Amino acid sequence: MLQDPHILRRDLGVVGGDHASLARLEGRLEAFVAALADDPVDEGDEHGATREYLRRLAAAELLALMVPAAHGGAFERPLATPICVARQWLARASGALDTAFVMQGLGSYPITQAASPELKAELLPAVTTGERICAFALTEPEAGSDVSGMQTRAEPDGDGGVRLHGEKCFISNAGLASSYVVFAREAKDTPEGKPRYGAFWVPGDAEGLEVERIQVVAPHPIGTVRLRGVEVPEAHRLGKEGDGLHIALGTLDLFRVTVGAAALGFADRALSEAVAHLQRRVQFGKPLAKQQGLRFALAEVVTDHTAAQLLVYRAAAARDEGRATADMPAMAKLYATESAQRVVDRAVQCLGGLGVTVGQATERLYREVRALRIYEGTSEIQKLVIARALFGR
Ligand SMILES: Cc1cc2nc3c(=O)[nH]c(=O)nc-3n(C[C@H](O)[C@H](O)[C@H](O)COP(=O)(O)OP(=O)(O)OC[C@H]3O[C@@H](n4cnc5c(N)ncnc54)[C@H](O)[C@@H]3O)c2cc1C
Repeated sequence: MLQDPHILRRDLGVVGGDHASLARLEGRLEAFVAALADDPVDEGDEHGATREYLRRLAAAELLALMVPAAHGGAFERPLATPICVARQWLARASGALDTAFVMQGLGSYPITQAASPELKAELLPAVTTGERICAFALTEPEAGSDVSGMQTRAEPDGDGGVRLHGEKCFISNAGLASSYVVFAREAKDTPEGKPRYGAFWVPGDAEGLEVERIQVVAPHPIGTVRLRGVEVPEAHRLGKEGDGLHIALGTLDLFRVTVGAAALGFADRALSEAVAHLQRRVQFGKPLAKQQGLRFALAEVVTDHTAAQLLVYRAAAARDEGRATADMPAMAKLYATESAQRVVDRAVQCLGGLGVTVGQATERLYREVRALRIYEGTSEIQKLVIARALFGR
């Protein structure tokens, strides 16, 4: 049996939130994943699968982790540690399930941070029930790692609101979401001539919002969003003029470490598949698990995986306790996603031909794990953050 991540966190004393509530959460997640194994969701239809996952996540009250208690959430504010625990469990079962879960947080946290009390009251309870499906629209064709390249513009409409013009790409839940948070360049720069950015809430059925779906390597509802003069009334602006980047970075700051936790989930699953296979498969007259070369290979990756868990739960606990430094989530995401890639690759190798056979968990994991090193800041961008902390700028 692989090490229980809950025990690992407890032994390290890096628990964010209280032991009892985390233990209860893990119990619910375990039951959720077991029920899913008995009654799996067909992921062939990405939109249908996301809706079904959200229905089940809402019924299990797991979406409540994404919003503050004042609006139907589980804790006073969304906490990194419980979200990490949930992502680790959910990613063990399915990447698409993990995406359905996390997008409710990534797409609603800007609202939690900066919407008016009226807009929060209107939107956030429906996030926990899955009735509002959320999207977070930051990336653009000319603005990926460097968000300051953003060209989507917020033109004042003369009535206190704006009209959005531009294109967003790689937007998870595009075409499925009923709630988009869109970041755009403000019409007025700072007095020093620097660009300013705003954040805006846009309903999925807004006039002028067009979506083109794309496909990535593993099931993931995603697409390009074109904004052709989408009208946004003043009441749907998040924060004040020029607050957009702060809101976007504040959101990524919470969710970045949780990408590391999803990677842990993929690695957990890959390790169990590899261990089970090596114990079962006999070659050269004995189980492969008796071959020292393979034992050493797995000893290495399980150590790597344990180090990744320490970094993820250290960063999550520090964040929840208000003592995180910028390099903590960056190290956690960098190490856990790169390590999970190594673990999954090693598991594929342990299974031989079966490892790459369609329908095997390892084959699916091999596709699912890849995007984690890219979204919410690539591995290279995490290294920039870590190096900045090291050198002071
Ligand atoms: C599955 C998936 C889901 C996504 N979901 C969303 C979403 O919901 N919302 C959203 O807004 N975005 C989303 N994205 C977009 C994602 O955040 C971007 O793809 C990511 O930030 C990288 O941007 P880019 O693809 O433009 O790559 P680029 O920025 O063009 O980078 C290309 C390569 O150059 C490297 N690079 C760039 N700058 C530097 C540098 N200074 N030093 C060293 N190397 C550098 C990068 O690390 C990368 O390897 C998603 C992406 C994927 C794959």
